[in-house]
Amino acid sequence: MQLRKSDASVKKLLRIERNTNQHWVGDGFPVRTLFSYSTLGPVISPFLLFDYAGPMEFPPTKQRHGVGEHPHRGFETVTIVYSGEVEHRDSSGSGGKIGPGDVQWMTAASGLVHEEFHGQDFAQHGGVLEMVQLWVNLPAKDKMSPPRYQSILDSQIPTANLPEDQGRVRVIAGEFDGVSGPARTFTPISVWDIHLTGKQLTDLAVPDGYNTMLAVLKGSVRINESETIGTAEVGLFDRAGDHIRISSEPNTVVLLLCGEPIDEPIVGSGPFVMNTAEEIRQAKIDYQSGKMGKIAPIPTA
Ligand code: MN
Repeated sequence: MQLRKSDASVKKLLRIERNTNQHWVGDGFPVRTLFSYSTLGPVISPFLLFDYAGPMEFPPTKQRHGVGEHPHRGFETVTIVYSGEVEHRDSSGSGGKIGPGDVQWMTAASGLVHEEFHGQDFAQHGGVLEMVQLWVNLPAKDKMSPPRYQSILDSQIPTANLPEDQGRVRVIAGEFDGVSGPARTFTPISVWDIHLTGKQLTDLAVPDGYNTMLAVLKGSVRINESETIGTAEVGLFDRAGDHIRISSEPNTVVLLLCGEPIDEPIVGSGPFVMNTAEEIRQAKIDYQSGKMGKIAPIPTA
């Protein structure tokens, strides 16, 4: 059980981030960036970026909508699909399709080149696209490790129930109430997809010293009985404290992110996030000289 504790150890809400400016990633992903390391580095570490795509209705099409070949180095991209389908291919020959409830945890690390498009079935039938892409930093010692993938299907993600029928927690990474998520991470991280159904106060245990962010995707959440985080907003919490106290309107969906901060310099440029400017220069050279690979053409029947 996530037991209620004294107010002395409640994490304080530091600020609420919101962004009403949408931009397109390629021609497939209408994105609001809800936080970025460019302004909030130490406060959100080990997370780097939160892109919220949609929800947006796409009409049926035979065209491919998405973002073509591009590289990454130095971090992980975590794609969580709520509605719609995303297909992915990369320079190692890997690929796959994820749909509602599925997660792709891609470790770019030393570098790869990939493309991300709407799934073919989804594109042909049309429908609502809603997904989140997180960028998760790697510690300096792991930035040049080999790329890897974890395709985590909805059915592989265990669920924990909140006390007193207040909702349920899909544990993607980390541990909640004794339930461990399947994602393997380089540093201690929790990613919880939480569906809140009740109105009562609920305490969520989050380790002291961890950065903690609560993104509201649907509905609204009241924090410590004082401030409200609305739809498409993210609350950032103080590292100090060992739980957050929330209540919500019924049928609220939130994504809780927390992790041990990586207290190392962050230098990023476009799709590369490293520790020094020299490493960024090297990443650009390595990409341009083909060291991160190329995507093979789609085979024709
Ligand atoms: Mn990408």
